[in-house]
Amino acid sequence: MAGLDDFADIIKRNEPLAPYLYLRVGGPAEMLVQPRSREELSRFVRYCFAERIPLRVLGSGCNLLVRDEGVSGAVLRLSEPAFTTIRVEGNRVQAGTGVAVSNLIAQAAQHGLAGFETLVGIPGSVGGALRCNAGDRYGDIGQFVRQVEVMDSSGNTQIRERDELRFGEHASNLDDPVLLTAWFQLEADSPDAIVKRMRKAWIARKASQPLSFQAAARIFKDPRGLRAAALIEQTGLARTRVGGAEVSDRDANYFIVHPGASTRDVLRLIDLVRSRVQERFNVTLEQEITVW
Ligand SMILES: Cc1cc2nc3c(=O)[nH]c(=O)nc-3n(C[C@H](O)[C@H](O)[C@H](O)COP(=O)(O)OP(=O)(O)OC[C@H]3O[C@@H](n4cnc5c(N)ncnc54)[C@H](O)[C@@H]3O)c2cc1C
Repeated sequence: MAGLDDFADIIKRNEPLAPYLYLRVGGPAEMLVQPRSREELSRFVRYCFAERIPLRVLGSGCNLLVRDEGVSGAVLRLSEPAFTTIRVEGNRVQAGTGVAVSNLIAQAAQHGLAGFETLVGIPGSVGGALRCNAGDRYGDIGQFVRQVEVMDSSGNTQIRERDELRFGEHASNLDDPVLLTAWFQLEADSPDAIVKRMRKAWIARKASQPLSFQAAARIFKDPRGLRAAALIEQTGLARTRVGGAEVSDRDANYFIVHPGASTRDVLRLIDLVRSRVQERFNVTLEQEITVW
């Protein structure tokens, strides 16, 4: 049986996670692990489950909030080339889950493959996008997925076929320990037409999001038939601030995290907004952002 020393080359101990997160706040990981190959990943996953070491996967950290005290166990980062390749064959695109969604969209467009345009401007990796079914009311990543290769707790890989996959509102049933590769089916179209639609989607998204120099993240899911941003706004909470965390006035479902803020500030603001919306509208806002 392997020991932790066997993985010394790929483990950073007590590694601050804030630099890897969109919001730039939060404590360290006991171990940040960057496997170089699928085989190394498999051995490490098997080891963690056998030794009951908590294991989490970090994508691009756009939908994550890490508590100030940090996280115990191992945090995997699939940033090495073994997990970041894209292959295009006909109308199908194969992508490692460490690929940035922006790169996936660009590669598809270059090959004259349409579909991903509505995802333009959504930050994150393919792995995070699959897990959270990234998208909006115009479309989501799930609708293009044909297969996903996953790794189980024994370090073995399996293929999840389309008919066993469920994609809902910012959620999927892809809850396997590690998502590895995805295959997407797209439609052929002219690269010019695709780029035009991408530009339109980009302009629309940027107009609604907080300014690009601000660290900000979407916090709540939209309740059925409602918009979380509208509920928060109507409660008069836009620009409300707790410590260094503030409700955005461009879209109240985004919280801006100012320099010097802590995760505690963000969590307190989440509690405040949730309880005010509950009192005013009797609607329970469900968190979209994952807290570690
Ligand atoms: C400015 C801004 C705008 C946004 N706009 C949108 C939007 O319009 N629509 C939308 O849907 N979302 C939006 N989001 C949220 C976020 O971009 C998406 O949820 C994105 O898909 C998260 O991807 P990520 O790689 O950053 O995942 P992370 O935040 O790193 O992780 C999210 C979850 O996925 C899991 N995960 C990641 N990779 C893997 C893997 N390989 N295997 C197993 N589990 C994995 C993590 O463990 C975690 O549970 C926005 C976020 C920001 C900051």
